[in-house]
Amino acid sequence: MRQSELFTKTLRENPADEAAINARLLIRAGFIHKLQAGVYTYLPLGLRVLTKIEHIVREEMNAIGPSEMLMPALHPKEMWEKTGRWDSFDALFRLQSKEGSHYALGATHEEVLYSLLTHYIASYNDLPVKVYQIQTKFRDEPRAKSGLLRGREFRMKDLYSFHASDRERDDYYKKVTEAYQRIFERLGLTAVETQATGGTFSDRSLEFQVLSQAGEDTVALCSKCGYAANKELKEGREETCPQCGSGFTEERAIEIGNIFPLKETFARAFGLHFKDEKGKDHVVSAGCYGFGTSRAMGTIVEIHHDEKGIIWPENVAPYQVHLIEIKNQKSKIKNVGDKIYKELTGVGKEVLYDDREAVSAGEKFADADLIGIPTRVVISEATLAQNAAEVKQRNQTNATLVPLKKLR
Ligand SMILES: [Zn+2]
Repeated sequence: MRQSELFTKTLRENPADEAAINARLLIRAGFIHKLQAGVYTYLPLGLRVLTKIEHIVREEMNAIGPSEMLMPALHPKEMWEKTGRWDSFDALFRLQSKEGSHYALGATHEEVLYSLLTHYIASYNDLPVKVYQIQTKFRDEPRAKSGLLRGREFRMKDLYSFHASDRERDDYYKKVTEAYQRIFERLGLTAVETQATGGTFSDRSLEFQVLSQAGEDTVALCSKCGYAANKELKEGREETCPQCGSGFTEERAIEIGNIFPLKETFARAFGLHFKDEKGKDHVVSAGCYGFGTSRAMGTIVEIHHDEKGIIWPENVAPYQVHLIEIKNQKSKIKNVGDKIYKELTGVGKEVLYDDREAVSAGEKFADADLIGIPTRVVISEATLAQNAAEVKQRNQTNATLVPLKKLR
């Protein structure tokens, strides 16, 4: 991508209406644009990052067997009335059509999926069923002040699994837990597996919390054995670790993933039953596994940045290389920049090429630090005099001269 063709612009100042670091940096660097509180446009650079995160999530999901599909975002009211959540789900967006029909905007998809699966599950032979989607969700959040960490419209992967027994479901639960840890590792994040209550969905849940001051959750953490519990659950109960008896420390954290067994009420509401070998009826055993992909993007910025800007981990960076051409009016180095750009992209490197005219070297370097691409490659009269480029990693201070022919 030639930076001269990128319509977005960087900002030197923090936006006045954003307090969260992820929102400030992502807006200033031109990754997202705020439409209203909790609702953002993913600009070209931002969409590349989000797509990479979702690609990693998709790969790790596909590796544990579920099928991907896409469910609607517009749900009939009747479906949410069946589970009683039309009234009880606080953050549900409810709307009315011209003809007076009522709808919910998809905040989660148990209702749609259970109703769908009654058409496909009748016998133990039809189980297990594992499906997921990566989709835009809507929640009427009263507090949407944390950039991508809490959106009214946000991206999420939701996986659901249906089994003939709780034991099978719990086995799959473990597989998903392992897949989640692989996702976090590839995203450059460390997640603490945290015990919590399940809210409207479930009696218990396992949360994947990334420790960060920007988080809205408080996690009680045992430093000795690693046990962790969400403070909201723990309150008034355990003062010491139930596993080893040590004391807790408290840390702020961002919840990115959440997995839990689904209450039987969903299966009962929609009549999702199956017959066993003897023809006896049972309700299905189900699990739900959420992962906030846009929240992960905000979290990566909260964890990986410095005073100059974002420092993207290699796997999710919008581009691998930021090629910067520094030249004055009389310079003839234009062709050299173009040539290197073509060579690098020709061997499959993802390159953002700062070919902008009339932009100073200082501005180009400041933009590169703000945007945060892992490898910066600078060519100027000085480097070309040595038939070389200056190469610097975003997370390091020292640059090295690399001969042009070794750049690839
Ligand atoms: Zn412990």
